[in-house]
Formats: sequence, structure tokens, C-alpha cells
Amino acid sequence: MSAAISLSNNDPLCRRCGSRMVMGYDEMECITCGYVDYSFTRQPTTSRKNLLSTATEYVLRYVGDFPALAETLTHVKVVRIRNRAGFDVECPFCSRAMEEASLSGKRPEARERRFKCQDGHRVSLIPGKTGVEGWR
Ligand SMILES: [Zn+2]
Ligand SMILES: [Zn+2]
Repeated sequence: MSAAISLSNNDPLCRRCGSRMVMGYDEMECITCGYVDYSFTRQPTTSRKNLLSTATEYVLRYVGDFPALAETLTHVKVVRIRNRAGFDVECPFCSRAMEEASLSGKRPEARERRFKCQDGHRVSLIPGKTGVEGWR
């Protein structure tokens, strides 16, 4: 395994925070700070076969402290939730869909996003320079 995240090198960088941006449904958006670039629109291609599954999918590696989990990957899709970028996270332990947990009481500079599944597993997505760096 080399790269934690497979992203195209053509993705533009966020004008606000410099992170790599990803393609949302209609425009580019930064999953680190939420900046949306409306000037960038999806380029029409001749082979638009998957109009319904335009979400960007990541496969994230574990970046936490437990060596036993080092090979465990988490599948994450970037989706639009209302008017902002959200994540569709599959639990790395039981493969269920996860729900975003509230970060109330956390420092705002801790930009990790927390998720939990019905079985009580908890996952945090850790932001990095290229978007989401990994999970723990
Ligand atoms: Zn940004
Ligand atoms: Zn689970």
C-alpha cells in the first residue's frame, strides 16, 4: 500500500486553506474547511454513465495508535448533506453505515469529524493536506 487516498492530480487546491478540493455534485468543494468553488463546474464528458453515483470515494488508512488496526481500511464517500460537504462512512469493524456524531464541546480547531455506528464503534476522520488523511 502506498498512498492513503487516491486522488487525481488535477484536483484544484482550496483557495481558503490550500487543501485539495474534491468534486461535489455540481462544483468543487473543500472537505477540510467547507469552501465551495462555484466557478468550477463539472466538465461534460461523452461517457457520463454514472450520474447517480457521483460521490467521491476514499479508502482511508488507520492513523491512530493501535498497531492491530494498521491494515484496517475505512471506506468513505463525500456526499452533499444539505448545503455542505458530508461523509458517508462505512464502519471498518462491522461495515454498517455510520452517523456523524456531534462535536459539541470540542475545540473548533480540531477539525476531525466523528462518526459512530449502531454497534457503538467510533471512528474519527483526520483532516490532512490532501483532504482526509486517515481515520482512527
Ligand atoms: Zn479549504
Ligand atoms: Zn460498527
